[in-house]
Amino acid sequence: MIDSATLNSFEAIVGARNTLKAGTDLDRYLHEPRNNYTGQTPMVLKPVDTDEVSRILCLASETATAIVPQGGHTGLAGGAVPNESSNQIVVSLERMNAIREIDPDGNTIIAEAGVVLQSIQDEAARHDLLFPLSLASQGSCQIGGNISTNAGGTGVLAYGNTRDLVLGLEVVLPNGEIWNGLRKLKKDNTGYSLKDLFIGAEGTLGIVTVAVLKLFPLPKSRTAVWAGLPSPDDALALFNFALARAGNSLTGFELIHRTPLEFVLRNVSGRRDPLAQRHEWYVLAEISSGRSEEDANMLAEAIFAEALNRKLIGDAVLSQNEAHRNQLWQLREEMSLAQRPEGASIKHDISVPVHRIPGFIEKANPIIHAICAEARPCIFGHMGDGNLHFNVSQPAGGDREEFLALGEIISKNIYALVVAMSGSISAEHGIGQLKRTLLATTKSKTEIAMMRAIKQAFDPQNIMNPGKLL
Ligand SMILES: Cc1cc2nc3c(=O)[nH]c(=O)nc-3n(C[C@H](O)[C@H](O)[C@H](O)COP(=O)(O)OP(=O)(O)OC[C@H]3O[C@@H](n4cnc5c(N)ncnc54)[C@H](O)[C@@H]3O)c2cc1C
Repeated sequence: MIDSATLNSFEAIVGARNTLKAGTDLDRYLHEPRNNYTGQTPMVLKPVDTDEVSRILCLASETATAIVPQGGHTGLAGGAVPNESSNQIVVSLERMNAIREIDPDGNTIIAEAGVVLQSIQDEAARHDLLFPLSLASQGSCQIGGNISTNAGGTGVLAYGNTRDLVLGLEVVLPNGEIWNGLRKLKKDNTGYSLKDLFIGAEGTLGIVTVAVLKLFPLPKSRTAVWAGLPSPDDALALFNFALARAGNSLTGFELIHRTPLEFVLRNVSGRRDPLAQRHEWYVLAEISSGRSEEDANMLAEAIFAEALNRKLIGDAVLSQNEAHRNQLWQLREEMSLAQRPEGASIKHDISVPVHRIPGFIEKANPIIHAICAEARPCIFGHMGDGNLHFNVSQPAGGDREEFLALGEIISKNIYALVVAMSGSISAEHGIGQLKRTLLATTKSKTEIAMMRAIKQAFDPQNIMNPGKLL
């Protein structure tokens, strides 16, 4: 246990008002959103600036105290949850929530780690600019958490992952030293890219305190297209067809099976099937244009009318206005939540090379049905990024526990297929606690050894988020 003198010294850094102690209402800091992980902590510290973070880590290093950095705690891999020992102190970045600068000439924004993603999007939009990182959790997740998980979302196809949106970082290292890497450079060939080590590190190498982020011109128009088609093979053909014609204007391409759409229609009130006829598969694509308010619609119409003529799709509807566009995206964003009333579900956030998506689905479905004939694969994801949420819901009306008992064998087989298809066991949600053991079995010995060497170099005492990632 951490002794009371040490706890008092930690509290003194941020003050009593910014320290939550065991016995007070710590509950919301101790759970992963799906309640898959719950931990204990003697205290939650809420520093207000980099200096306080530095003093916390300095003391942590002197006393060998484990620290768990926490952002908006929307991460789904248990990375921000302390373990059950009550020996790990949570450092919440929520008070470091200032946008320090927006530079419309340089197309950059400087934000502290605790700024909620949506606030960055809104601030950019006020200057006619776009911060393209877009997740269903954007109202709660923080930029520090996005950076630490290298979050993906729906904008990756055109703008890349969070990693591609970060120009510079300020990070407090495990010994309390502050690294100021707040550069605005697009080109910087001066050796190792240090910022990249902290992006996706899940708080295991230090605490991200401030970031310089890229902004883009706000599109003048965006059109969403909901298209029905028979198979993932058709979706791949449509993807390449649309990409060839729209290029960078193709800013979204989601693949959706009928099952998750049915879950939304059944479990979320007021939702309607966008198309009159039933299709086995759907694509939700988005076309953006910086040229005019009509351009996205005209381009989308041209592409999808030709796709219809060529029988690449069975039917399609184009968004008519912003509200309609949001409605179509809402259907996609509600798919995770709409699974809950359907009972237990075993989830896999995986990626394979884009052209192997149809082959993956073709092989994965029989694997599931051989293990549980009535299981319901609930497949949707960012096809343009090669990323699927290959989720499996329990048989309708079946026994929850009986199905969950199959989770290990189902996941083992799915991940084996992912590895055989040169894919990744975690496309966007990270490793955290959830996939820590799996990581060691799916990466090569050389890769794991390199990761361990980096961890050892930065954090030889293993005080930063122990038990996560490695
Ligand atoms: C409804 C829903 C939809 C989602 N959709 C997506 C999606 O489309 N794509 C996607 O990628 N993810 C998605 N997520 C997962 C989650 O929102 C992202 O991983 C997000 O980036 C986490 O940010 P956070 O601030 O909540 O971080 P947290 O959950 O608080 O932390 C995540 C990890 O980062 C570390 N960390 C947090 N802040 C810092 C910091 N300042 N310095 C160092 N380490 C830190 C934590 O220790 C932890 O390991 C979704 C989650 C939900 C609930």
